[in-house]
Amino acid sequence: MKRTIVELKRGEPLVVKGKAKVRVAHKPRSSNPVRGQRQNTTRRRIAKDAMAPYAMEVFSRLKRAHPDAHCELEHETPLQLLMATILSAQCTDKRVNMVTPLLFRTFPTAAALADAPQDQLEEMIKSTGFFRNKAKSLIGLGKALVERHNGEVPDSMDALVKLPGVGRKTANVILGNAFRKNEGVVVDTHVGRLSARLGLTKQTEPVKIEDDLMLLFPSEDWAMLAHVLIFHGRRVCFAKSPQCAICTLSEICPSSSV
Ligand code: SF4
Repeated sequence: MKRTIVELKRGEPLVVKGKAKVRVAHKPRSSNPVRGQRQNTTRRRIAKDAMAPYAMEVFSRLKRAHPDAHCELEHETPLQLLMATILSAQCTDKRVNMVTPLLFRTFPTAAALADAPQDQLEEMIKSTGFFRNKAKSLIGLGKALVERHNGEVPDSMDALVKLPGVGRKTANVILGNAFRKNEGVVVDTHVGRLSARLGLTKQTEPVKIEDDLMLLFPSEDWAMLAHVLIFHGRRVCFAKSPQCAICTLSEICPSSSV
């Protein structure tokens, strides 16, 4: 059987998979992205030649831990997902899912959204925060879809990012979930945080983090990669108190506190 050994702690080898023997280097604790989690110890860094099998092992474990990982914004059409994603900025998916049923019923098409009275829309989405800007974006979105795309949501990155309120992250959500197209990786706060803690990137800008992830993982996995990272970030690897003791990655994660 082919085996790869990743040295997790000094002198403590762990079988992962693959063929080559790989090592994990060490760095001072000051650069540990899980601040305050470990005392008098060191941060581990994945050696360059171990990165590919390590990344595959991370993905495999996360898929096993979160077999139901999926987009948690409730929707039935690309337009609904686009509206929900715009509302999800600085807001939880749970909160968005509370306001979207009425929103989708009241404004079921791009044309209806284009003609939506701003104050009515604001009232409807108020609880998601930043409601004035979001209402403006939604109305602008409806108008742009009617004027440029015959009321339909386009299925290309170029066209999506030209729509009001739509950046690369939102476009990746739509392409990956509504059109099953893997053109990039969704990098939200969870994906960014976990990618750093797991040593998958040293970058801090979402676009550069996305580049690193796209190099590490095959394109067919990009949508699911974001889902499992987001699920793990919401359920285990919390921003302030990562639950390393119960984490499926604790043996291999360079930021693990256990
Ligand atoms: S071991 Fe798990 S919970 Fe802890 S930092 Fe790593 S990924 Fe997050």
